[in-house]
Amino acid sequence: MSATIRTTDPVTGQPLAEYEAWDTGRVEAAVERAPAAARAWARVPVNERATRVGHLATILREHKETLTHLAVSEMGKPIGEAEGEVGKSALTAEYYAEHGPGILADERVDIDGAEAWVAHEPVGLVLAVMPWNFPVWQVMRFAIPTLVAGNGVLLKHASNVTGSALALQDLFVEAGLPEHLVTALVIADSDVPDVTARLIEDDRVAAVTLTGSNRAGAAVGSAAGRAAKKSVLELGGSDAFMVLDDADVEVAAAAAVKARFTNSGQSCVCAKRFIVAAPVADAFTAAFVAAVEALRIGDPRARGTRIGPLARDDLRAAIQRQVEESVAAGARLLTGGKPLPGDGYFYQPTVLGDTGPGLPAFDEETFGPLAAIAVARDDEDAVRLANATPYGLGLSIWTADPSRGVALARRVTSGAAFVNAIVASDPRLPFGGTKRSGYGRELAASGIREFTNTRTYWVT
Ligand code: NAP
Repeated sequence: MSATIRTTDPVTGQPLAEYEAWDTGRVEAAVERAPAAARAWARVPVNERATRVGHLATILREHKETLTHLAVSEMGKPIGEAEGEVGKSALTAEYYAEHGPGILADERVDIDGAEAWVAHEPVGLVLAVMPWNFPVWQVMRFAIPTLVAGNGVLLKHASNVTGSALALQDLFVEAGLPEHLVTALVIADSDVPDVTARLIEDDRVAAVTLTGSNRAGAAVGSAAGRAAKKSVLELGGSDAFMVLDDADVEVAAAAAVKARFTNSGQSCVCAKRFIVAAPVADAFTAAFVAAVEALRIGDPRARGTRIGPLARDDLRAAIQRQVEESVAAGARLLTGGKPLPGDGYFYQPTVLGDTGPGLPAFDEETFGPLAAIAVARDDEDAVRLANATPYGLGLSIWTADPSRGVALARRVTSGAAFVNAIVASDPRLPFGGTKRSGYGRELAASGIREFTNTRTYWVT
């Protein structure tokens, strides 16, 4: 094993940093230390665990500049959005500091002749395989509740954000959490499938969570199944953004731009398929395309930039293939459609019209600045198109009549439905997918309970 991980600046395509990847012995030493730290932490009363994790909010804010700089340079996120994910992580630490103990409190059950209650107890050490697209938030969204619940964490972050992974590990210690409670494993990407499969089998690891692609999710989910261990999978999405015939088209188009192009289009809950009622399709398309053409693309370090580069060149190549194949199959290129010439992994914000089932831009997840518009004849057709995907993460519906929006939302399968709002995660609400978007939930009460042992007590 013992290889080197090289990170790259996606703005220039130039090398950024090198990290020595861990060999088998170093991984084993880290895994050997971790369970004792997790056991000791589980014995700390939940109120104290919550207070200490809550202190992470202050530490995150103190280190906002460093974390922002790392995210911008390692994966090219526009600076304001990078600051936003640090702030949201801090709010989540505060949310669980306040609400975690209540959510985890014993629940009394009335039973004649016995004292009975349900407890939510720690499970031990949880392996977390995380993606690069929100280098801080993805880790914190999982780790904060999991730590308040009394578990330890082995973090396998995406290799292109290794600098962020190591910085985050230090913050947990600075916040006052014990050493070795959160360990960032530095694994060369060629070793990742083997090392994660071995860790999932390992008796010292209790459970696993992965946020990432369906390919990686299938590998981790099947290893967890073989080992009969709990897993949570947060996978891809191809969220529908439905614009009904009574919607305010200008408002919907402005929201659509935000929903699609946040994080330069690299978010699982970005809206990807715009399903627009025929009577408003021309007006929506015109407003949307005009707003997309006004997006400023460029250096993510510049404050006015809305679209940065894609995080890796292969992600840009995947978008290019999806555009070309969709156009060849009948989609209409309305704007964009090309990589930007010059250095870095920039791709023009792109809109395709006349899409629908059978076209890659509609059938596949598009993880970049590419929007696919499909026109729906009526509400029935809109529901059909929204459901015509293997994914089921989020859904956004735009209408003058919220009750009509809710009624249609009930007929589309997804883990979240937003009416007259764009899909976003919030620590107060559960987040997760259906169908190929995965299973299990993060955030809110459901998220903190995923990695607990729901334990029955019966005492006479
Ligand atoms: P990816 O290849 O799945 O990478 C995600 C993580 O999984 C990385 O840490 C990666 O390590 C690791 N990994 C890759 N192959 C693995 C394997 N065989 N076994 C175990 N771990 C493995 O994802 P990506 O293509 O870079 O990222 C984009 C995808 O992530 C999209 O599909 C997107 O929708 C999804 N995503 C989902 C959510 C959500 O919350 N639902 C959020 C963000 C992203 P290396 O980096 O070292 O290869």
